[in-house]
Amino acid sequence: MIGALSATGRMAMARGTMKNFRKEHIAPQASTVDRTNYFPEGVNLWKLMGDFNLHGITAPVEYGGLGLGYLYHCIAMEELSCASGSVALSYDVHSNVCINQLVRNASPCSEGEVLAKVNLISGEHGGALSMSEPNAGSVVVSMKCKADRVDGGYILKGNKMWCTNGPVAQTLVVYAKTDVTAGSKGITAFIVEKGMPGFSTAQKLHKIGMQGSDTCGLIFENCFVPEENALGQEGKGVYVLMSRLDLERLVLAAGPLGLMQACLDFFPIYGNENSLDAQLVNSSLCRGKLRTCILHCSLPGKKVLWSYVYSVARDCDNGRVNPKDCAGAILCAAERATQVALQAIQCLGGNGFINEYPTSEISRLVIGRELFKEQ
Ligand SMILES: Cc1cc2nc3c(=O)[nH]c(=O)nc-3n(C[C@H](O)[C@H](O)[C@H](O)COP(=O)(O)OP(=O)(O)OC[C@H]3O[C@@H](n4cnc5c(N)ncnc54)[C@H](O)[C@@H]3O)c2cc1C
Repeated sequence: MIGALSATGRMAMARGTMKNFRKEHIAPQASTVDRTNYFPEGVNLWKLMGDFNLHGITAPVEYGGLGLGYLYHCIAMEELSCASGSVALSYDVHSNVCINQLVRNASPCSEGEVLAKVNLISGEHGGALSMSEPNAGSVVVSMKCKADRVDGGYILKGNKMWCTNGPVAQTLVVYAKTDVTAGSKGITAFIVEKGMPGFSTAQKLHKIGMQGSDTCGLIFENCFVPEENALGQEGKGVYVLMSRLDLERLVLAAGPLGLMQACLDFFPIYGNENSLDAQLVNSSLCRGKLRTCILHCSLPGKKVLWSYVYSVARDCDNGRVNPKDCAGAILCAAERATQVALQAIQCLGGNGFINEYPTSEISRLVIGRELFKEQ
């Protein structure tokens, strides 16, 4: 039936289905995830999202993916973020940063690689990607982690930092220097599996936001990685890294759209857009400066941003990936969402500063999102 619909109709149907999914499965867990700093025990959110075909939106059908594009990936990211920014961040790293990376760059496929993709897409396994190091964040090409060539593979030595999903991931894309004298041209990407001797994770980092989305450092102590686990060509890792950054920024940009929607949804006044003005005028909450701020920062701002992010997604689906637009989308969306969350807190007065109200969670999430946009 979905095939008979127009492109807009298919998008609307996908959004409606996603909305139902997040309301039924993610929203009930959101405050537990935020409060405990862990995904809930007893409910396997990874598997639930896998059963719902969310992990392989851009992956080919032969691995269990949906073979769709970035537009649909953005819809999924936006809807999940509306329920829980933390779950959505972990989801994004798993499905886009890790799986999409493997799909775009791994060839020819070994049996192990195919299995890794299938397990990641089903949600049986978690995925992560690690490029940053304690002294190599914004200038990531100055990384120090080394991969020395040996018979049949490479020996990885060094440390990584801020790896989202690191504590729970079975498959990780890791960048290291195969030639330390060649600067950015000496980087190679590798597929690392949990359990490889010499690979371990450092303790989970306690962040001020995005609670429950696990982040940690990685430790490589003479870890042997077989040569078939090199992702792309040796020394060409910087191309793998830079080409994926644009698409990562794009899909991440849909997150703040969902966070803004969560702020607006909290106020029943915004539920009925048709009579918005009348309700605003009558509202005791939204007078004077606040009313102006909400009108200008929230609804119109969100719509302009929504159009921007989704037109960049359409361009990417049509093979037109513009790095400036991808970076612009995440920058504008993250900054706008921060403003909107602050206004939502103001609207609630003292309650906006109390943990029982979702705005406190949202504000921590958008602050985390602000930091993450650097990636
Ligand atoms: C929640 C979270 C999750 C993350 N997940 C991952 C992950 O999964 N994988 C991964 O590899 N990394 C991850 N990161 C790391 C992230 O990519 C880095 O934190 C980011 O690249 C910034 O690097 P840095 O922390 O070293 O800051 P720095 O590079 O030291 O920057 C510090 C400040 O200086 C500014 N700055 C830096 N250079 C310039 C310049 N040239 N001009 C002006 N200002 C500048 C920055 O904007 C920033 O405000 C994550 C980070 C966070 C917070």
